[in-house]
Amino acid sequence: MSRGKTCEAVRVVVRCRPLSRKEASECESILGIDEKVGQITIRNPKAPPDEPMKVFTFDSVYGWGSKQRDIYDDVVRPLVESVLQGFNGTIFAYGQTGTGKTHTMQGVSNDPDMRGVIPNSFQHIFTQISRTQNQKYLVRSSYLEIYQEEIRDLLCKDNNKKLELKESSDFGVYVRDLSSVVTKNATEIEHVMNLGNQSRSVGFTNMNERSSRSHAIFVVTVECSEVGPDGEDHIRVGKLNMVDLAGSERQSKTGVKGRRLKEAAKINLSLSALGNVISALVDRRSTHIPYRDSKLTRLLQDSLGGNAKTVMIATVGPSHKYFEESLATLRYANRAKNI
Ligand code: ADP
Ligand code: MG
Repeated sequence: MSRGKTCEAVRVVVRCRPLSRKEASECESILGIDEKVGQITIRNPKAPPDEPMKVFTFDSVYGWGSKQRDIYDDVVRPLVESVLQGFNGTIFAYGQTGTGKTHTMQGVSNDPDMRGVIPNSFQHIFTQISRTQNQKYLVRSSYLEIYQEEIRDLLCKDNNKKLELKESSDFGVYVRDLSSVVTKNATEIEHVMNLGNQSRSVGFTNMNERSSRSHAIFVVTVECSEVGPDGEDHIRVGKLNMVDLAGSERQSKTGVKGRRLKEAAKINLSLSALGNVISALVDRRSTHIPYRDSKLTRLLQDSLGGNAKTVMIATVGPSHKYFEESLATLRYANRAKNI
């Protein structure tokens, strides 16, 4: 089938982490990965042995042995190249808590082989910039968090202040008063990322609990100015959004009441709104893209669809204990796929 224009704008890949040491002694793997054809099979551990396994096909799938470099070079590098050309792009990590979203996006910064998408993009951007001669670049970054449909600036000392989403005819949708830090090299921008990460954990007793319930968005804006043949300055701006989404596990388990239940509903709301936006983008028949349904999709409106490129990295764990959650992740990712 020939692919339409909007379809090429969204790429969906799945990454499966290895069984952890603890799991290895007590869990069986229910996933089968075929990296060559981009297929992943999942077996229901409670089903009779003759029940056929469910099969999903994606743009790419990555098994337990995949390297951070593989992910970067295959799926992220082309998107960052297009940001350097002046287009917008967004990378999402989607999946249940504990399946490798943060590992994929951040990784381990002091180990060159374990660095994730975000630090690798810094290196990539500044290396490219250093190779150019006739252009001038300005690289700015912002780091924010959406928690319970409220926006907080991770680069501001007073990070408990709730920021507002605004819309103007000049700038489109933007976050009012969001910090924007100019950096001149990879070391500086990495420092900005580390500051934001520290600020993310402040005020929460349990870091994992917070990260599993909030979306963290690192935004890099690359502005390039170049003198054209006409002697005039030409400016192009590309924006890169790197999003570590809240955990996709069903939050509203039985027994959750009051504040927790409301919170759960909000987390589910923005993840399902995102799913709806992406599936509307890949479906050529849809005429309406429901960006307005959540803060996350409104904020990213100018970087999803149109000329922007989107990559969704869905992460899953192989254990039989998480069959339901893994299946839900594969189904969500499948909806975002080109039809
Ligand atoms: P999440 O952010 O989705 O909650 P994490 O990134 O924190 O999950 O990963 C949970 C644990 O699994 C961490 O200890 C991480 O180092 C490990 N892990 C995740 N993905 C991989 C992988 N592809 N290879 C090796 N270890 C991984
Ligand atoms: Mg995480």
